Amino acid sequence: MVVKRRINLIFKIIICIIILLLIFIYIFNKVNQKEKIVNNNLQEESNEVHILENNDMYTLKIDYHKYNIDVIDEAIENYVKMKKEEFLRSINENNSMKYDFILQVVSNEYNNILNIHMNTLSYTGGAHYVRDDNSLHYNMIEKKFVNLTDFFKDSASFSKIDDIVYYYLKKLDENHEYNFDDSWVRKGIAPNTANYSHFNLNEEGLEILFVPYQIAPWSSGEIKIIIPYDELNELLKEEYISEYHESEEENLIPEIRDLSKYEDKKLIAFTFDDGPNTSTTNILLDNLDKYDARVTFFVLGSRVDSHSEVLKRAYLMGNQIGSHTYSHKNLLLLENNEILNEINNTNDKIKEVIGVYPKIIRPPYGNTNENIKKISDLKTILWDVDTLDWKYRDANNVCNEILKSSHDGAIVLLHDIYKSSIDGALMAMDKLEDDGYAFVTIEEMAILKNRELDNEITYYNFK
Ligand code: ZN
Repeated sequence: MVVKRRINLIFKIIICIIILLLIFIYIFNKVNQKEKIVNNNLQEESNEVHILENNDMYTLKIDYHKYNIDVIDEAIENYVKMKKEEFLRSINENNSMKYDFILQVVSNEYNNILNIHMNTLSYTGGAHYVRDDNSLHYNMIEKKFVNLTDFFKDSASFSKIDDIVYYYLKKLDENHEYNFDDSWVRKGIAPNTANYSHFNLNEEGLEILFVPYQIAPWSSGEIKIIIPYDELNELLKEEYISEYHESEEENLIPEIRDLSKYEDKKLIAFTFDDGPNTSTTNILLDNLDKYDARVTFFVLGSRVDSHSEVLKRAYLMGNQIGSHTYSHKNLLLLENNEILNEINNTNDKIKEVIGVYPKIIRPPYGNTNENIKKISDLKTILWDVDTLDWKYRDANNVCNEILKSSHDGAIVLLHDIYKSSIDGALMAMDKLEDDGYAFVTIEEMAILKNRELDNEITYYNFK
């Protein structure tokens, strides 16, 4: 009996212990959960604000930073409050799905401009997250908010941004295959402040963010490009232009072509004056390989600094760079020292970028004489096919003029500052290629035609 009672007692004790343990676990869990919620509601350490809420209905995560600049902190807090309330309002308690909300704020400071980007992703049902972007740009010296137009010289300068952006987007497309829809892109990059609210000036240049749907479908995600300052020097206010980098003595080695394959061909030299011009010259360069073509650029010294990247690119591809003087003056009307300045300043500018002096010159309007030739010490190259491209600005017209007058040894005059000239030239190449022509630089033409260029001669062609 005693033994039986004992066992009974031990059994009761064990049951009690188990019950107590279960009660303890239950209470512990409850307390812990409560603590979690309290803890996660607002965790503020110095200037960092992290909010995390996680329950059966939703997850909410907010991260931002305080800058101790009242107008900015206020703007961020207002944004956070607005987006959070909007999200909470959207929650339908009867819906069994879990809602999600992520808000983050990133920033950087460059040149006394504080750039802040606020981004919200919320999932409230539907095919995908809903995204919201908001950017602030604050000039810390002048203590005021700014937008992208404030960095540009004037509205005319800002109105040129879309062509540059378009070029960089096209380049990006080559690697990512976004397959942009042209009219969609053009609408999304049209020069107005709304299209350019998400930008950021940093060490590399002007970074522009296009949010989903702005220029491409949601599936393409956000699209970012960086435009180097070199491309913008002509457009931005002086205080935002990066200092001109002296060429770091880099040794640029251009492509050299095997000319033997052109020996049996008719030759034609396409020449482009008045550039370089980033947005249009690049389009020409992009298409030269299609026709196994290299061309000659007669550039203005005054444009070299602001379009140095494209000039370097042209040179490295194996195109020839010649001088078109510094500021496009009629040399016949200048004093000798002025002529010398027009020529020397251009030579120096070109050498700064491509590492070598030009060997050829095309004096503006084709105006030259013995005196100018002696001063310049460059070979004078004019033309015998004048497309009048600057006058008509029509690609078909340019193409027809070239086709009408082309011959073996011809030099064609064009201007790479006009898109129509480039389109027309490329159309003409397409036809001339079938007709047995090869497209060469002046230097290549001289080699293939066995001519040693002479300083005293004016070259109109290489017949
Ligand atoms: Zn010119």
